[in-house]
Amino acid sequence: MSELRQNPATKKWVIISKERAKRPYEYTNKKKNLLDELPPYSETCPFCPGNEDKLPEEGIIYERKKSDNEWTVRVVPNKFPALTRCGNVEREEIDNLFLLMAGVGCHEVIIENPIHNTTIGLLPKEDVAEIIYTYRERFLSLSKDKRFKTVIIFKNHGEGAGTSLEHPHSQLIATPIVPQHIRHRIHEAVGYYDDWGKCVYCSSIETELKQKERIVSETEHFTAFVPFAAALPFETTIIPKRHAATFGEINDSEISDLSKILSNVLRTLYRKLNNPDYNYIIHTAPFSDKGEDYYHWHIEILPRLTKLAGFEMGSGIYINTSIPEECASFLQK
Ligand SMILES: [Zn+2]
Ligand SMILES: [Zn+2]
Repeated sequence: MSELRQNPATKKWVIISKERAKRPYEYTNKKKNLLDELPPYSETCPFCPGNEDKLPEEGIIYERKKSDNEWTVRVVPNKFPALTRCGNVEREEIDNLFLLMAGVGCHEVIIENPIHNTTIGLLPKEDVAEIIYTYRERFLSLSKDKRFKTVIIFKNHGEGAGTSLEHPHSQLIATPIVPQHIRHRIHEAVGYYDDWGKCVYCSSIETELKQKERIVSETEHFTAFVPFAAALPFETTIIPKRHAATFGEINDSEISDLSKILSNVLRTLYRKLNNPDYNYIIHTAPFSDKGEDYYHWHIEILPRLTKLAGFEMGSGIYINTSIPEECASFLQK
């Protein structure tokens, strides 16, 4: 029989379909999709060193360097931005029904490394730390613009996850509103906090570490686990043990530690599932909730091994055709 499981933080139910569940190894990409078939440099790639003339006009927004002529991470504007920096956040009301506002915000691309055919799971830990330092710098810098409420930092890896650009990169979008999706999570977290007097994410870490059934990896400052109510096969949460509401509160020793656990989890996915497509998202409270007790920032890694269908779209209930405990033990081995 299948099971309905509820995520304590979001209150969302998922169906763990035991009849349809595949064994973890069945999700391994059969046609090997490894990056060594790609060249380390591509003449047509706008993100490769030497091809700066292919970048949008505004050029490089932020850069981290190893030496005078060697960069490690670059931030550039998105060529086709979803939101742009000019304009104000005033709402216009149409016929007492519709709300309209200018597309104000910021959409940037983080070029994660100069090498064209690499990925976070294959980079040395020091290089991964450079990417996380960049995320924090951009988060803190954008938080100073009073028009922006939050920033979503995310990565689309592979065509099935929404990117066609091979060069390793992630993106961020600062929004002038708190997205409804995030507001919902905060609302649920506040509800739990009011009931129990503690953070639902801190409680989850405690329980996961006690049960040990779904832990993928653990370091001094972070825990990685497959959630009890994972919506997707191999979905993994990476969460700091120290409570902090916003991502911008991460400190240097946590960055160093996060680079270890993030590359470790992504390397495991790369090796065991043959470079699957995936998204990751840094979930954070909005800028103004910095220091709050009820929300706890974390990273969600979502491998894209299955397709969403009508039931998911119509109900918001995902059918997970894998068993979270089996996925965790497969990743752990
Ligand atoms: Zn490239
Ligand atoms: Zn917490």
